[in-house]
Amino acid sequence: MDVDEFREFGKAAVDYIADYFQTIRDRPVLPSVHPGYLGELLPKEPPQTGESWQEVLQDVDRIIMPGLTHWHSPKFHAYYPTAHSFPAVVGEMMSAGFGCVGLNWVASPAYTELEVVMMNWLGKLLGLPEEFLNCSDGPGGGVIQGSASEVTFIGLLAAKEKKVKDLMAQDPTLKEADIKGKLVAYSSDQSNSSVEKSGLLGSMPMRLLPADKEGKLRGDTLLDAIEKDKAQGLIPCYVVANLGTTPTCAFDDLAELGPICNRDNIWLHVDAAYAGTAFTCPEYRYLLKGVEHADSFNFNPHKWMLVNFDCSAMWVKNARYLVEAFNVERIYLKDQHKGLAPEYRHWQVSLGRRFRALKLWFVLKIYGVEGIQKHVRHQISLAKYFEELVRTDDRFEVCTSSMGLVTFRLEGDNQLTKNLISRIQERKNIFVIPGQFRNKYVIRFAVCSRLTERSDVEFSWKEFQSQADEIIVSKITSEVGDKKGIGAIQLSDAGCDKNSIEKCK
Ligand SMILES: *Cc1c(COP(=O)(O)O)cnc(C)c1O
Repeated sequence: MDVDEFREFGKAAVDYIADYFQTIRDRPVLPSVHPGYLGELLPKEPPQTGESWQEVLQDVDRIIMPGLTHWHSPKFHAYYPTAHSFPAVVGEMMSAGFGCVGLNWVASPAYTELEVVMMNWLGKLLGLPEEFLNCSDGPGGGVIQGSASEVTFIGLLAAKEKKVKDLMAQDPTLKEADIKGKLVAYSSDQSNSSVEKSGLLGSMPMRLLPADKEGKLRGDTLLDAIEKDKAQGLIPCYVVANLGTTPTCAFDDLAELGPICNRDNIWLHVDAAYAGTAFTCPEYRYLLKGVEHADSFNFNPHKWMLVNFDCSAMWVKNARYLVEAFNVERIYLKDQHKGLAPEYRHWQVSLGRRFRALKLWFVLKIYGVEGIQKHVRHQISLAKYFEELVRTDDRFEVCTSSMGLVTFRLEGDNQLTKNLISRIQERKNIFVIPGQFRNKYVIRFAVCSRLTERSDVEFSWKEFQSQADEIIVSKITSEVGDKKGIGAIQLSDAGCDKNSIEKCK
């Protein structure tokens, strides 16, 4: 492909994406394909001779588009958001277009330097303590990683190295392997699965401690677990606190957990993957109270801050611990700029680095602080609006509501909510997933797409209500049926109609 064809192909692809976004609201949010559908549509072998880009785009439309789940549809309310914005898409495109690999400073100075500045901007935007920033005098700093999972794992590895070094400095007769065999990590049972995974990967038992009835890990619970382990001769090493849990967006109390960790020299990592973006708005920063006790902090601009996947921001109070855990200096990587700019390869698992700072810069520059705050506040207000709608219908109960996430259910047996969600998923008009909250089966409703408006929230709410009508009708039907010892019975026989189900409860 020559450069002229690239211009045409690239422009056509941008048009395709733009058209996709203009029509996304009208598409069923979930695809209707079966497993293996794509293998049936593609040839078994690669093409012998090259084909035109026009054919490629046609294939995308014919084969790929039907198999997409539309994450940016305003009717997508599952999981947590994954970020998308046009500035970030263009940032990704330019990064691919430049095609450098930032494995050290000289391998592309702009890669490292833009990342340093962006991590300072971002840290200030969230109101993080100065000591986490690259621009502070101390050894703290920020880096962009690929995912929150990676960051939790990297934090664990750094905590492990630090603990081993600290203990061996105190008592040189200790053996590294003996120390490593005794290390323990802690988090709450509300943590993301990636937290448990980091313990598995890092060979450190991860104790998932019970959260309180609001979904928060409390200081007493942590302290008890630590004391129990110490009494057994084990060594507490790493704590992962949540600011915004995955099930209900609950916030652990850092001011309570922090001093406990600091007292025993336990590395405190803060996982704010989704909710961290809310700290761009000063009114939510009270939830950051106690963050000064943390050793590392992470949030995903790729979730809620309009930067396309992947872009996970990590700050550490002392980068030396990362570098000591990951540095395997080789002659060919040495260059004369050491010390003036961080060598980010020592802060991460892989050697090569993508230019993720570029899309982050485009988003910060084009939206500005106010644009990002507006986005966050708008999405939170939509979740509040949804909560209000649910509260108007007393067949339903709201279980939790925090940031852009509401969990709710049908009153009564869990089976009712299970039936509701399976009906909704079959219809494919909106997409939500179930969750568990204090033994109750709940529906998680997250405001995900940046295109979502009040009318979309109303559309989704009507979908829940109309399907609840069906379920509650059939419930009443079968109860009355059971009593009379007959099978199906018409609703009118039970003395109520669809519009007055409330009265029948
Ligand atoms: C989404 C999420 C994660 C996982 O994020 P990845 O970047 O996909 O690894 C971890 N923790 C919390 C609290 C999350 O919400």
